[in-house]
Amino acid sequence: MLSENVNSIKHMAFAVRDAEAALGTYAQFLGVPPETAIREYPKSRTRVAVFDLGGIEYQLCESMDLGGRFSEWIRERGHEGLHHICYAVDDIEAALEHAEANGASLRMCKACQVAGSHPHPEGFVAFLDNDAGGIEIELMQVYTPEELKQYQEVQGI
Ligand SMILES: [Zn+2]
Repeated sequence: MLSENVNSIKHMAFAVRDAEAALGTYAQFLGVPPETAIREYPKSRTRVAVFDLGGIEYQLCESMDLGGRFSEWIRERGHEGLHHICYAVDDIEAALEHAEANGASLRMCKACQVAGSHPHPEGFVAFLDNDAGGIEIELMQVYTPEELKQYQEVQGI
């Protein structure tokens, strides 16, 4: 039976000190294409290597500044690691309602300063303030092609 809140894993995001170096290790040992591009996100001041491995999207995330979302996470723990898992859901409002009815609370998105569902480049996302096994939970309702077009128009992309 499918979980009430989860269709699939949208991505797993790792906090790394150096996205290129981390990508190099995946290329060396696990056959990830070494020419995988590193994307820069000016709004969140993050550099990210994104690739598919075993049918899962991996994001190796490096903060461009001290005190950034990922550099701060590493500083607090003293090591790199799995920062969050993003779960794809059909209906983010229903998924949040279900989680909150079961005791979850919402965590502020550090990039947007919003708690609860809000638009990101790939879909509506929200973060829970309830880590599971030490791993942050992100939920995403991936945009339909129409919603993606709308988002890109608003952003002027
Ligand atoms: Zn956000």
